[in-house]
Amino acid sequence: MTKITVAKGDGIGPEIMDATLAIILAAGAEIEIEEIEVGEKVYLAGNTAGIAKESWDVVRRNKVFLKAPITTPQGGGYKSLNVTTRKFLGLYANVRPCSSLHPFVKTKHPEMDIVIIRENEEDLYAGIEHQQTDEVVQCLKLISRPGCEKIVRYAFEYAKNYGRKKVTCFTKDNIMKQTDGLFHQVFDEIAKQYPDIENEHWIIDIGAAKMADTPEIFDVIVMPNLYGDVLSDVAAQIAGSVGLAGSANIGEKCAMFEAIHGSAPRRAGQNMANPSGLLEGAVMMLNHIGQSDVAEKVQNAWLKTIEDGVHTYDIFKEGVSTKKVGTKEFAEAVIGNLGEKPNSLKSVDYAGATALNLPKYQKKTPAKKDLVGVDIFVHWNGSSPDELAKKIQELDSNYIKLSMITNRGIKVWPEGFEETFCTDHWRCRFKPVDGHEIDHQQIVQILAHAIHQNIDTIKTENLYNFDGKAGYSLGQGQ
Ligand code: NAD
Repeated sequence: MTKITVAKGDGIGPEIMDATLAIILAAGAEIEIEEIEVGEKVYLAGNTAGIAKESWDVVRRNKVFLKAPITTPQGGGYKSLNVTTRKFLGLYANVRPCSSLHPFVKTKHPEMDIVIIRENEEDLYAGIEHQQTDEVVQCLKLISRPGCEKIVRYAFEYAKNYGRKKVTCFTKDNIMKQTDGLFHQVFDEIAKQYPDIENEHWIIDIGAAKMADTPEIFDVIVMPNLYGDVLSDVAAQIAGSVGLAGSANIGEKCAMFEAIHGSAPRRAGQNMANPSGLLEGAVMMLNHIGQSDVAEKVQNAWLKTIEDGVHTYDIFKEGVSTKKVGTKEFAEAVIGNLGEKPNSLKSVDYAGATALNLPKYQKKTPAKKDLVGVDIFVHWNGSSPDELAKKIQELDSNYIKLSMITNRGIKVWPEGFEETFCTDHWRCRFKPVDGHEIDHQQIVQILAHAIHQNIDTIKTENLYNFDGKAGYSLGQGQ
């Protein structure tokens, strides 16, 4: 018996949750349910997070959370419960299976059967943003080695556990050599530990195009947060089943399972909604808590129901569907099919699937870290890079001197192009004079001189070599 937290949410949430629970309990799920309230009522009662402190205690104690969609009230100030939950509970892996149900649900991709595994905690979603000048704002893209190792290993373990043959990695490391470069490098390192699973890397642009065109050539795809956010919706949509997809958010200690759609308030209380998305989330939950036999039984009965043409309004189609049903009747039909398998859709076999038990991240031996320069970012309203260079060169010393200026990453000094468009945000790179080593003291001195010269420094980034390898990118055009 596993105790789980359940939130029935808003809009169609209570109806689809009741249907989902009825199905999995009828299939023999050994679960004890503890219910909490999240969403609209909690928001409107003045809790901007949409969840009360006592409810957090329940979620953290039970560790497994099945959540129906909620309505985020209109107007500012309300924080997304999903984002907060993922971050607070360290739910680093977002797992979204997207497979077509051709010919029973319309899709251009009848053979599609992919699983998107999205990193869920870092990347541009760290929410570290600053306005630095009148014209320029910045969002920090943070990618960590533990973050990459955890998600990539999760993808390979998932593939191994569910008998999948290939893991593909999407990044843009031809441009972001440090951040996406690390993700790709870790992918290559971990892929070697799974010789039985094929692996490949695609640059995200052509990879995404290929996925939208011929998804059947992919199996499991792992990617950083932002790309995963976008492409998991594309994948669900082209599978023909945004309303039918579920997703899992997995952490080292806790996990949350849900449908990907929202609370569809206009359909609420009418026994119309399709409970399939939440049911798919619940199937993942059953696998996660080690009840794979029940998960398999539910999934096969659900596939059989779809195949029988027993459809809710959202997927009902004359000529394909045989019976238009409501939420409750759909659940009853699935329950009636428990123990059966689909005939033409591929049945699932979860034998051997277990909760993934991943090793804890092991900290690596720190590298030898040498300070080899500094980028000083300057807010300056002029337009001639040569003029700025002259001003900045006044900060040069016997040890360290200006080597390059870029504007939005493009080198504009020395030898810039006059065609290059410049904003008021300039990066001035200082490197040691030949033969000299530098320390933080020199950087402090540059900044102190800058104050005297009325130069508006907005931030610094130190340049380091790690074990002799540059830990920073060159200027574009350098
Ligand atoms: P939605 O997903 O609720 O609805 C989009 C369309 O799909 C609507 O036409 C709706 O009727 C239909 N639909 C969705 N789920 C369905 C189902 N199970 N059966 C039949 N039809 C279904 O998206 P929205 O209208 O943009 O958002 C409504 C509310 O849901 C908003 O408050 C939004 O913030 C919230 N939302 C919550 C979550 C979540 O809790 N995870 C996710 C997305 C949106």
